Amino acid sequence: MRRVYLDHSATTPVDPEVAKLMMIYYTEQYGNPSSVHSFGRETKAALENARDSVAKLLGAEPSEITFTSGGTEADNLAILGAAEAQSKKGKHIITSAVEHHAVLEACEFLAKNGYELTVVPVDEEGLISVAEVEKAIRPDTILISIMHANNEVGTIQPIAEIGKLAREKGIIFHVDAVQSFGKIPINVKSMNVDLMTVSSHKIYGPKGVGALFIRRGVRVVPRIYGGGQEKKRRSGTENTPGIIGFGKACDLAAERMEAEGIRQGQLRDKLLAGIMEKIDHVKLNGPRGENRLPGNLNVSIQFVEGEALLLSLDMMGIAVSSGSACTSGSLDPSHVLLAMGLTHEIAHGSLRFSFGHQNTEEDVDYVLEQLPKIVDRLRMMSPLYDKVKHGQCSHAQAQ
Ligand SMILES: *Cc1c(COP(=O)(O)O)cnc(C)c1O
Repeated sequence: MRRVYLDHSATTPVDPEVAKLMMIYYTEQYGNPSSVHSFGRETKAALENARDSVAKLLGAEPSEITFTSGGTEADNLAILGAAEAQSKKGKHIITSAVEHHAVLEACEFLAKNGYELTVVPVDEEGLISVAEVEKAIRPDTILISIMHANNEVGTIQPIAEIGKLAREKGIIFHVDAVQSFGKIPINVKSMNVDLMTVSSHKIYGPKGVGALFIRRGVRVVPRIYGGGQEKKRRSGTENTPGIIGFGKACDLAAERMEAEGIRQGQLRDKLLAGIMEKIDHVKLNGPRGENRLPGNLNVSIQFVEGEALLLSLDMMGIAVSSGSACTSGSLDPSHVLLAMGLTHEIAHGSLRFSFGHQNTEEDVDYVLEQLPKIVDRLRMMSPLYDKVKHGQCSHAQAQ
């Protein structure tokens, strides 16, 4: 059976070139970068080389990059660390309703521990308005945390505008750029960003590695204490094979970004057009045009459960995500889709397709061959769909 992986926003395979390089740092160049002998110095040089690669892709200085165990740790270091560093100045934090859980939960932890949180809403495309952020700012606001591109619906936020606003008001600005990093151009300087989170495993690097950009002069209180690695910002012997692999993944992303963006955008558009043509009662979730990550597609297919679709697609070798996760024990649909104003019912029927380097036109053709059959079969069992077919539901309800 054909296997089609369309879940690259969840994770990507490690690029063979990355894996090959990492193997050297597991078995041959295994020195501790803090050691002064040649084994240590060689690893240290490779580690600093990786730091240069991450910095280059962000438009940052290498000294502004702190390696972490991933995007989640970088988000926590940014939010908890910046809040603690400025707690004397104020205790008000602004974030958005569509952030990743690593940001939302860190902010909620602070809200339970003496800080105040304002969560700005999004429009029906998942877009944050700069005016809403401005409205939320108070004299005691110390931190704004807004993501660059959304992991579920691909919406790209107006980061440069929010950055300009934050800089004018002297408020620290953190951006979770895990989904956009290596996919669309980023420049922390022109975007006026103070802290930016990136992760390796979403860009063909290994899992368990990430980084936080900390603009020179911005203070972040560490979360982990010990040997003082990473300029005392993140102690612990560095995951050198992982970090060096991450650096290589950044170099490859820089080379491929432009062409892959165009190619994946075309595959995505072909899939969307095919779904719209072959299946009725489908709604596109997220932005229509330019303002969307090229590799992201999110649709709600009415009168079926996203989870049932996901499992049926999986049986045909197709891997996607859904906006509800009954199997993971939660019946709540995605907080992102609900924040965009979708009803529970429509949010439950959502599917996310996220493209990667290895996807081809044939992959899209295969999905377009399988998905309509699966939808038909599942809808035959749906009492709601039966009513729509027999004209008992109004058109408005069936939209
Ligand atoms: C995947 C992801 C994270 C978490 O990164 P990990 O490296 O998996 O911890 C954070 N934010 C966003 C937007 C993500 O997509």
